[in-house]
Amino acid sequence: MAAEIRLFTCLTDNFGALIHDPATKATASIDAPEAGPIAKALEREGWQLTDILITHHHHDHVGGVAALKQKYGCRVVAPHDRSTKIANVDLRAGHGDVVKVGGLSARVLETPGHTLDHIAYVFDGEKTVFAADTLFSIGCGRVIEGTPEMMWQSLLKLRALPDDTRIYCGHEYTKANVAFAKTVEPDNAALRTRATEVDKLLAAREPTIPSTMGAEKAANPFLRADVPEVAKSVGLAGNPAWKVFAEIRERKNRS
Ligand SMILES: [Zn+2]
Repeated sequence: MAAEIRLFTCLTDNFGALIHDPATKATASIDAPEAGPIAKALEREGWQLTDILITHHHHDHVGGVAALKQKYGCRVVAPHDRSTKIANVDLRAGHGDVVKVGGLSARVLETPGHTLDHIAYVFDGEKTVFAADTLFSIGCGRVIEGTPEMMWQSLLKLRALPDDTRIYCGHEYTKANVAFAKTVEPDNAALRTRATEVDKLLAAREPTIPSTMGAEKAANPFLRADVPEVAKSVGLAGNPAWKVFAEIRERKNRS
């Protein structure tokens, strides 16, 4: 039986996500932005929360942990990096670790940059990655704690996943990301296609994710910093990809 995934809104623009294993009835919440909407989504499905898989320490990703742990007695999995204080942690996960959710397996990728502790959970069997605030659709997270070079390396780790990998991210930022991406690659046909799709989804009040790695590789400027035309477009032809990435990130910060 295939895993089931449910996506819903938390706080203002955070995504909540549940992944459920029908065989064992295990259910994990990816991060815990807000306990209320997560509990409601569980009730709707008749699912019991067994695990919370935390991606990084920011409050809009861990704010609901204590209340959910109290209600469900679930296991809390958090990044290996203990320098940030995340409460109620049962298991620490670092690069290459495999975290089980019932019969499902999530491989942990360390993706520092947005924060130093940031990890992504790759469910290879489900061709699904929960990338939280490292990779957004047509965008990427702000480089808050790490360096642009570090963030670029993290994005490369994600980009190495197969093209048909479904990407779930932490926020609904796609519309603004598309508007910015057009300033970097106005002639990118894949970006125009994605823009049309995003407009339709948002008009229907649907989330713009999951996206796929193939679609992102074709249209997300932050994954395309090593494409010569992109380097040229930001005036950095011939420069290392991470410098091109840094320039694109800087322009997005100012946009
Ligand atoms: Zn964050």
